[in-house]
Amino acid sequence: MTGPSKVYFDDFHAPAGTSLPDKLRRLMTKAGIGDIDFTHKFAAIKMHFGEPGNLSFLRPNYAKVVADVVKELGGTPFLTDCNTLYPGRRKNALEHLAAAAENGFSPLSTGCQIIIGDGLKGMDDMEVPVVGGEYVHTAKIGRAIMDADVFISLTHFKGHENTGFGGALKNIGMGCGSRRGKMEQHAAGKPTVRKRRCVGCHACTRQCAHDAISFGEDNRAMIDHDKCVGCGRCIAACNLDAIYNPNASANAELNCKMAEYAKAVVDGRPQFHVSLVMDISPYCDCHAENDVPILPDVGMFASFDPVALDQACADACLRQAPLPGSLLTQRMQEPDFVDHHDHFENTTPGAEWKSCLAHAEKIGLGSRTYELIQI
Ligand code: SF4
Ligand code: SF4
Repeated sequence: MTGPSKVYFDDFHAPAGTSLPDKLRRLMTKAGIGDIDFTHKFAAIKMHFGEPGNLSFLRPNYAKVVADVVKELGGTPFLTDCNTLYPGRRKNALEHLAAAAENGFSPLSTGCQIIIGDGLKGMDDMEVPVVGGEYVHTAKIGRAIMDADVFISLTHFKGHENTGFGGALKNIGMGCGSRRGKMEQHAAGKPTVRKRRCVGCHACTRQCAHDAISFGEDNRAMIDHDKCVGCGRCIAACNLDAIYNPNASANAELNCKMAEYAKAVVDGRPQFHVSLVMDISPYCDCHAENDVPILPDVGMFASFDPVALDQACADACLRQAPLPGSLLTQRMQEPDFVDHHDHFENTTPGAEWKSCLAHAEKIGLGSRTYELIQI
């Protein structure tokens, strides 16, 4: 794909007589979702239902707008996500559905059903060839997602502890991976412990679903790399920054694999992407909490090109001023702070987020060059 892609944008101002759902509907219409033939087609709307306890996930009201638009265009929408690698409340389909219901997602609130893409235990997937893939030959994608005729991503754009930010490519690539698909993407990033910083609080081990963290006589954490799948949960769990990824290329490799997974998901069928840049917490909605946003709310974006969309969202974020009291401003006040002139890298050093977009463009998923159209 060459040349600038069109990315449509609207802000969150909603004076009397307007509303954010109305603005989202207008954005999608202006961005051209009506060009997709939905007649008698199933449309997967990939989103994140939020780990219970987290309150920065996208509200069901936004999902309803997308589902309603699809139905008005003749399609049959369903909301979907795949199970997690983590402990928590979304690691099998039944718990995942219960978590979604607890967070307000129901046929009544969204106008459509939820299907967990990779089935009851995260094992119902399809091996999908990655055309042009350099890291992954066949991506393991949730079967229900691949069964859909049209693919739509609805993304909460925010920070992320491994990839700098969680945008459309992460929602698609990592989010549509089945459990083994997620493990394949994370495999290079096995963290280690800075023993001198560890105070033995055990917070990290409560986040590890793979029993990979143990404690010696000194009560300092140790990670067994034979058991560790590199999910990175323990990195975010440690308030002392005692856990880090020593493999500098790991995040870059994770980002490239994620781009390849995203390509496997969207190749060969109509696609459309929406991202809402709001409640920009430093870490992803998989956490059962959401810290103070690092940046102010920016707006809503839509495009047929997920790469251009992520680039536009990231660029808009980089133009914002860090919010006082956030993890980002705390990091900036640390004595050993190194300014990367990049809010995501400054929040999560080594995040390497640009490698994801560069690789996505290289393999033909989209273009980092875009024309921003304000509506
Ligand atoms: S969370 Fe950090 S400080 Fe606490 S035990 Fe784990 S590595 Fe040590
Ligand atoms: S040790 Fe950390 S990165 Fe490895 S599986 Fe456990 S939580 Fe994930």
